Amino acid sequence: MKKLTDIEQNWIKQFDRPLVISGPCSAESEEQLLKTASRIEKSYIQVFRAGIWKPRTKPNNFEGIGLEGLPWLQKVKAQTGMMIATEVAKSEHVKAALEHEIDILWIGARSTVNPFTVQEIADALEGTDKIVLVKNPIHPDLDLWIGALERLTGRGIEKLGVIHRGFSTYKKSKFRNQPNWQIALDFKNRYPNIPILCDPSHICGNREGIFEITQQAFNFEYNGLIVETHHDPDQAWSDAKQQIIPERLLEILKMIELRKHDNPENSEYQSELDRMRTEIDELDQNLLSILADRMRISQKVGELKRTHNIAIFQPDRWEVVLRGSKRAGVSLGLSEEFTEQIYKAIHQESVNIQNKIMGPSR
Ligand code: PEP
Ligand code: MN
Repeated sequence: MKKLTDIEQNWIKQFDRPLVISGPCSAESEEQLLKTASRIEKSYIQVFRAGIWKPRTKPNNFEGIGLEGLPWLQKVKAQTGMMIATEVAKSEHVKAALEHEIDILWIGARSTVNPFTVQEIADALEGTDKIVLVKNPIHPDLDLWIGALERLTGRGIEKLGVIHRGFSTYKKSKFRNQPNWQIALDFKNRYPNIPILCDPSHICGNREGIFEITQQAFNFEYNGLIVETHHDPDQAWSDAKQQIIPERLLEILKMIELRKHDNPENSEYQSELDRMRTEIDELDQNLLSILADRMRISQKVGELKRTHNIAIFQPDRWEVVLRGSKRAGVSLGLSEEFTEQIYKAIHQESVNIQNKIMGPSR
């Protein structure tokens, strides 16, 4: 078995621009696929995607059109000359995809987490020379992502790539799936030979953020994108909120600035700086969302105090919190003064919130 680091990825070189895969989240009808495909600009977008089998969070949602949709994808290929791509999650999917001339198969985020599933797909692909893209697992586990690729190389599948589609969190955030760029960049550093695509649609979960995430991906010199487009996104049967019309994708692609390689030293410095700034931005976002959670709990504490007619400011409690935090801060390498300042600001805001709840008459 070849090591992942030793596999040359010449397949990506057939594209003279960054590889862009686009099309609807799900295949719904032949007409929908052909309509969407006809509006896609072929000089920018080389591969047409559509989900045939859809892994849905809850039952009784649309679970994909199934086998019936594969000939529609073949028709798109015949009419437009674009390559075609779909997600596979079982050996039967692989078999059907191979029978219908699918050029690129991808493993979805919910499948990457399951070694049995990935192994089943790898076994079914043995002896073919298809391009296979592996989405990151839904939780932030770099080894699991790498392990999935190793299962494929173990069966002789060597035209590989990965898709960064973000990681799920319990907490609400502006993203449907947190980008956690650091994990994808760690992957990229370890396996610079394996093409990495960004999936801004599933990271954002909305249309508005797609440009920003796309630009960020190209700042990090990703090799391409997979973006959901639909001829009538509001009517889409799955992921309606994040799909855009093909014309909007073209606009985005025209606005994107690709990183220039004319000064390699400077470009290295710039990527290092971008990387660190992105990490800081992500942490700052998390800080804000944690603070917002904390204040929501303070508000509930205020309501409880009101019900029981208890004073807002409890000096003993505050002493304990402050002392404990300063100790914890020091053990994490933060200065006592800094921790104290932050805690005073947080505490003050909690008191303000609770004062409001108590009302002026109390
Ligand atoms: C998809 O691409 O439509 C999809 C289901 O994505 P993910 O596996 O990233 O959730
Ligand atoms: Mn989708």
